[in-house]
Amino acid sequence: MQVARIVENSPFARLARLKLAAPNVAMVLGRSIHLSGVTREQFLRDPFWVAHEMEHIRQFEQYGRLGFLVRYLWGWARHGYYHIPFEVQARAAAERDAHHYTQGRPLPTAAERHPSPKVR
Ligand SMILES: [Zn+2]
Repeated sequence: MQVARIVENSPFARLARLKLAAPNVAMVLGRSIHLSGVTREQFLRDPFWVAHEMEHIRQFEQYGRLGFLVRYLWGWARHGYYHIPFEVQARAAAERDAHHYTQGRPLPTAAERHPSPKVR
């Protein structure tokens, strides 16, 4: 399955990384996946992570840039990062869709997968 445009060393993802206090971050802006602290190759090796970000791209398409960002930030303020409805949806999509992004390799184990940041 086709993966979106990927931007490495993104200043936007770096800001998100600082905010989330996470060693590496992928974030979607419009139709692009922005990375910080992780290379394109490392990111693409985790099909669960790719499927998660592809779901955010679908959400952006559904709600539009502004509609997505407003709902995302509102959800964050109201529920905390982990329980933002878009994040809950993206975690479910990761489990459902990861097999589309394995590139012929076996699915990574729980220990090999990128963990979701646990912040509020
Ligand atoms: Zn997410």
